Amino acid sequence: MSQTAYTFQSLAQTREDLLSGKISASALAEHYLSKAKSEDKYNAFLELFDASALETAAAIDKRIAAGEPVGKLAGCIIGIKDNICYKGHKVGAASKILEGFESMFTATAVERLLQEDAIIIGRLNCDEFAMGSSNENSAYGPVKNPINPSLVPGGSSGGSASAVASGLCMASLGSDTGGSIRQPASFTGLVGLKPTYGRISRYGLIAFASSFDQIGPFTKTVADAELMYQVMAGRDQMDSTSARRPVHEQRTSKKTYRFAYYKEVIESEGMHPDTRKLFDEKVAGLKAEGHEVIEASFPYLDQLVPCYNVLAMAEASSNLGRYDGVHYGKRSEKAEDIPSTYFNSRSEGFGPEVKRRIMLGTFVLSTGYYDAYYSKGQKVRRLIKDATDKLLTEVDFILSPTTPHPAFKIGEKADDPIALYLEDIFTVQANLTGHPAISVPMGTTADGLPLGIQLLGNAFDEETLFNGASLLH
Ligand code: GLN
Repeated sequence: MSQTAYTFQSLAQTREDLLSGKISASALAEHYLSKAKSEDKYNAFLELFDASALETAAAIDKRIAAGEPVGKLAGCIIGIKDNICYKGHKVGAASKILEGFESMFTATAVERLLQEDAIIIGRLNCDEFAMGSSNENSAYGPVKNPINPSLVPGGSSGGSASAVASGLCMASLGSDTGGSIRQPASFTGLVGLKPTYGRISRYGLIAFASSFDQIGPFTKTVADAELMYQVMAGRDQMDSTSARRPVHEQRTSKKTYRFAYYKEVIESEGMHPDTRKLFDEKVAGLKAEGHEVIEASFPYLDQLVPCYNVLAMAEASSNLGRYDGVHYGKRSEKAEDIPSTYFNSRSEGFGPEVKRRIMLGTFVLSTGYYDAYYSKGQKVRRLIKDATDKLLTEVDFILSPTTPHPAFKIGEKADDPIALYLEDIFTVQANLTGHPAISVPMGTTADGLPLGIQLLGNAFDEETLFNGASLLH
């Protein structure tokens, strides 16, 4: 396979390079496939889709040669998280229970990328069923952070982050239920977007917690994130929760914006001193440019993580009921009758974190505990949403570090689920409320580790969110 050198600049530039004849889509696909084969020291890719990637690329080249128009993502090399379906290709949510399972249809988000002539190069490692914050819960081994391979890349979309950060693909798709795009973006120096709930169709996304899950992009720049978002967003009749609201084409911006941050967050225990320092510098920079940054307080900070966990685990226990050893993927060798098929296939197929969540989720939904946990969680979720909406009538954005600290060592928190759940402290608010949020790099610690800053904005106003993100990056 030939190794054509190519320096990636932006998705739009790649398309230009194709149209000007600087490089062909086939050469790009070959280049990235061979790079992903020889340079993936991070366990980012679970599988490369050589045949279909090369076939797509050849078709694009043919159209360019014939002078026919090509799409907005022509030649862009994109990896997808292993919980997003692509017809005729394996998908497994990094779980043994789906070993060997092949998608029977293509996720709408992927379909829309393909319609704009993107090249899907493979599927990316993640935490099993997207449950985790470190990518240590994959049945196929942990993903490493390209900045320092002894560190986690974050999770659950760790492979999606590692692959883009190490240049094995130009952009990738992840999913974000409680922070799984934004936290790994923060740990690897990328831009990560969780769109408004309902913005991007969930059709073809393997469900974790359906009222929280959203697909979103990992990119190097805000402009690339915006382009990916614009291609994927919008109503899809295959997902009844997808919104009919129009998606912006051209961005219009204001001169100055209003930001709020929570004082308690900035002063919270466990905040790395460098996170605080970089955040303070960003705030000072915004003020110097004439933006207003106010201190606000949020009455439900302590309820965010528990509320998310009660509700997300309840939904997970219900969603994962479908893996029974009959319908999809793995069936235990020990299966003899219906009970032993269910019992053995699930015992052997699910990893420990997934089992923990199914059990906790089943508990909070069970008779006698439903009111105390699940329905109370729903009420708290409503209070959190109303308080967030109220604050967003006064300011354009809620600003916070994406994570309290930079990437940690592989294994460091593996035996401490509570510590890992607390990783989501700044990210879960947007999933509980449905608001869009984006993480952009805010600098590096004294040790050279990247950290992200997060903007949370008004629902269905990604346009303004991208304006804010552009100010910060
Ligand atoms: N880290 C969070 C969790 O473990 C979020 C996961 C996600 O967004 N998929 O649930």
